[in-house]
Amino acid sequence: MSNAAPARRLAVIGAGWAGLSTAVRATEAGARVVLFDMARQAGGRARSTPQDGLDLDNGQHILIGAYRETLALMRQVGVDVDQGFWRQPLALVSPDGLGLRLPGGPAVPAFVRGVLGWSELPWRARLALLAHAARWRLGGFRCPADWSVARLCEHLPRAAFDALIDPLCVAALNTPAREASAQVLLTVLKEALFGPPGGADLLLPRRPLQDLLPGPALAWLQSHGTLWRPGCRVQHVAPQAGGGWQVDGEAFDAVVLACSAIEAARLLASLAPEWSSTAAALAYQPIVTVWLRHPGLHWPQAMMSFPAQATPGLPAPAQFGFDLGRLGLAPDTFALVISGAAEWVARGTEDTVQALRRQLQHAFAGSTPAWQDERVSLLAVRTEKRATFACTPDLHRPSASPLPGLAVAGDYVAGPFPATLEGAVRSGRLAIEGLLQA
Ligand SMILES: Cc1cc2nc3c(=O)[nH]c(=O)nc-3n(C[C@H](O)[C@H](O)[C@H](O)COP(=O)(O)OP(=O)(O)OC[C@H]3O[C@@H](n4cnc5c(N)ncnc54)[C@H](O)[C@@H]3O)c2cc1C
Repeated sequence: MSNAAPARRLAVIGAGWAGLSTAVRATEAGARVVLFDMARQAGGRARSTPQDGLDLDNGQHILIGAYRETLALMRQVGVDVDQGFWRQPLALVSPDGLGLRLPGGPAVPAFVRGVLGWSELPWRARLALLAHAARWRLGGFRCPADWSVARLCEHLPRAAFDALIDPLCVAALNTPAREASAQVLLTVLKEALFGPPGGADLLLPRRPLQDLLPGPALAWLQSHGTLWRPGCRVQHVAPQAGGGWQVDGEAFDAVVLACSAIEAARLLASLAPEWSSTAAALAYQPIVTVWLRHPGLHWPQAMMSFPAQATPGLPAPAQFGFDLGRLGLAPDTFALVISGAAEWVARGTEDTVQALRRQLQHAFAGSTPAWQDERVSLLAVRTEKRATFACTPDLHRPSASPLPGLAVAGDYVAGPFPATLEGAVRSGRLAIEGLLQA
């Protein structure tokens, strides 16, 4: 697929963020791309769909400054990233106004100043947090592969764990700390908190996700000759006699499977059985997003963090909330995110929404203006049972190149990161680089 060679035909199966990234990279490398998706629209798990006159995302997404490849891809396909996101240095602030606020600037001094200035965290916890961070940094952010996050932090005071590590773990890995991979969390900390300046900045979408990549990327691809096949669930891939691949009977020089792990496992069950069983064995964690309307209310900041055990005995399903009015997306509308939500999926929507309403009533008691539950109406609930793979210790993830001429892209493919948009976008680039090298 080089510009000097005749254009090669590439099938990209799946138009989520991994598939779109793959298709853009392949087009740049001179391939003629056919992009399939079983859905009618591109975007996969990070898409938006209409609801009550709004374009609601499949679930509230947060990006961070360290998502360099994602932001570069957006710019490449014509997205104005500065307009598209509300950006600020990391702040995990709860309704009482307390929490961690990092100043801007180089990562290490910003982290140290942020932690030292975290006045409601006991001094012992602040110093222990800095000592742990220093040790992790000196150790190159490496730890035994079989450690959980809880094991990594067993000597960290509970206050520091609850206030920082637990929320970061569930936000980034979507896996509870007792089950989550310490090595993957350390990699995230390294990239986000201890990388180049701005890595820890929060980027909150001010546009529906569809406008931030899937729509513009598809337009870019089509203007560069990609054939878009929506509503097309690929049933078979098979090697062709004499080289190349057949995708549902159509000939291609190469294929990238950018579909879900489950679908990739099905498509490769007989061609690469070992790869297929690794992909099929992945476990998943759900995310529930609840949108509530509260007329006339504005939060002091766009993103709110909810402490797990704010009121003993009172369930606290949501870890984060977003004021979509403040973000310019939807007035009077709040998105509440429940990550690692297996317990709440089991309890059912009604219980979850009730518990959430009680949580908010308590969390905002005493704040001005108050959260008045009697004024709240439910706009939507979206449950993604397989939101991300469960990011557990020692996890064996499927490789990106199971067969010659066939690569795989997706947030679940072997790599150092959890299931994120950045992981998906990087995997697309790596899939094309792998095919080019081969
Ligand atoms: C509720 C929720 C909240 C999240 N929050 C965040 C966040 O805050 N930050 C973050 O970075 N990440 C977040 N994520 C994770 C992020 O959305 C994913 O990591 C990313 O979207 C994965 O992209 P992908 O392309 O790898 O997979 P997918 O988006 O799953 O794309 C796969 C595509 O393949 C298609 N497909 C499947 N089978 C076939 C077939 N046989 N033929 C044709 N097409 C097929 C599917 O229709 C789909 O479009 C969240 C995910 C969810 C669900």
